[in-house]
Amino acid sequence: MCTGRVDMSFIFRAFANGADGVFIGGCRLNECNYTTHGNYHALNMVHLCKKILEYKGINPERLRIEFMSSGEGILFAEFINDFVRKIKSLGPLGKNEGLEDTEIKSRMAEVQKLIPYIKIVKNEKLSSRLDKLEDYRNLYTIDEIEKLFKEAIVYYIDPTKCQACMICARKCPVEAISGGKNRIHVIDQDKCIRCGTCFASCPPRFGAIKKILASEPIPAPIPEEQRTITR
Ligand code: SF4
Ligand code: SF4
Repeated sequence: MCTGRVDMSFIFRAFANGADGVFIGGCRLNECNYTTHGNYHALNMVHLCKKILEYKGINPERLRIEFMSSGEGILFAEFINDFVRKIKSLGPLGKNEGLEDTEIKSRMAEVQKLIPYIKIVKNEKLSSRLDKLEDYRNLYTIDEIEKLFKEAIVYYIDPTKCQACMICARKCPVEAISGGKNRIHVIDQDKCIRCGTCFASCPPRFGAIKKILASEPIPAPIPEEQRTITR
């Protein structure tokens, strides 16, 4: 698989499942056979993931990316041996960090849920191509990641304002909004990827969709029997 296809979700899923380390090996930079240069995307994404791991209390050295050609078997072996030595010195996931398995799972689940949102918010930076390798290391800061998580937005439909016009449900890209004719619409927070399309499409005269900070409690959805609008 091209490193450009390695998604952030693969990395956090691996750690959520207890992997002690994740190594990504890609083709040499500037030697991509395609115009896409997916290995640069991977490099950029890995640095974002490292900062998120650090923010979540996991040693970022448990994640590594290295580049080599298919003819450089010795180099590949050296990279792997070095990475294995590093992971052995850190010990099993959580030991070096002082975290229980359940805590790691819960922290990784928090990240996994926000991945679509993170990709939207960091889209510009994630697609940037920098001149020097060192610049990638400084591309994301821990303050920025803290802000990213603390200021993450959740969308909620105010049942007192929804007029069941159905526009938001039609536009939601992941079918996270349930509703129908004369039915107050409700967002399924587990399906929602926080793209903000519903917020932008709800007619201003209704203004039924609200933004809430993810760190704040989300009001419970209105009970089924109270969702019918009588006009
Ligand atoms: S924020 Fe996006 S994904 Fe979530 S409910 Fe609205 S349109 Fe659907
Ligand atoms: S667009 Fe606004 S008013 Fe229309 S169904 Fe969605 S939340 Fe309700």
